[in-house]
Amino acid sequence: MNEFELIRRYFTRVYSEPTLGVGDDCAILTPTDSALSLATSTDLLVEGRHFFSNVDPYRLGHKALAVNLSDLAAMGARPAGCLLGLALPELDEDWLAAFSAGFHALSQKYHCPLIGGDTTKSPSGITLSVTVMGWVRSPFLTRSAAKVGDEIWVSGELGAASVALQILQGNPDYPAALLALARDALECPEPQVELGLKLANYAHALIDISDGLSQDLGHILTASQVGAQLYSEALPRPEYFASLTRDQQLRAILNGGDDYQLCATAPISVHAQMRALGMHKIGEIKPLDYGYRLDQQGLEPKGFQHF
Ligand code: ADP
Ligand code: MG
Repeated sequence: MNEFELIRRYFTRVYSEPTLGVGDDCAILTPTDSALSLATSTDLLVEGRHFFSNVDPYRLGHKALAVNLSDLAAMGARPAGCLLGLALPELDEDWLAAFSAGFHALSQKYHCPLIGGDTTKSPSGITLSVTVMGWVRSPFLTRSAAKVGDEIWVSGELGAASVALQILQGNPDYPAALLALARDALECPEPQVELGLKLANYAHALIDISDGLSQDLGHILTASQVGAQLYSEALPRPEYFASLTRDQQLRAILNGGDDYQLCATAPISVHAQMRALGMHKIGEIKPLDYGYRLDQQGLEPKGFQHF
């Protein structure tokens, strides 16, 4: 059983209340007397799993909120507020000052005030839990709204975070000199909040790429019951990827995690608007029986999974 089967079997139930429950970047709750709905999402960061013990605490504070804001961006939601759960093995004021400064700087930038949380002592290692809330308008940018004939777009370069992770993990196949260029992507991702709000005007389906393009776009395909054609040459990547093999480049772009760019599908009629937003076209949505292809070959939706 993998992570997604686990969630489906044990934690996915059908309720009549939420507008959108388990299975998308955020859940959505719609009050009966409001034009706006509440989008909410939560992400857990565990020391030794999601971040190295010696990571710069300012950057960790930034990233803890950034990965959550990215899920709001993927729903085209405007940030409203956030909650922070902290389990800490010790009270280290220098660490707390830097961590909170990184967190608050991003919360101010995107007008997402920290409105509560919980703090406790941990028997081992740091665990962080951030919950974000934001406002959305119907129709929502769900994973299930891709249509055959849509163009597939991504918001920026992919794969850098995965290369930085390989180098930090000591993989000798990657040139260590690339760490200086790739590290910011891993430790300081910028959530595409403004872009998500603009994409809400044009896109059919939207997801943030947190676990690798092939797997995350795969979620759109499964939810929308469609296939896809991707073009390897069109996948945006950093210039310094030229010093990697083609296989390393594609593995980082398709299966690496922690990119936090947005992947959208949108009708051809808004091609010019998508380009004007700086989006990069990487392929097209096809009928389900076409399958999932990169150039002429079948593509496995592989990416980061916890189990
Ligand atoms: P994302 O990468 O966008 O954060 P995930 O892949 O982590 O999304 O989760 C997929 C879906 O499963 C999301 O809708 C998430 O809210 C839901 N989910 C994950 N874990 C649980 C859980 N323990 N209970 C209920 N829903 C969960
Ligand atoms: Mg997401």
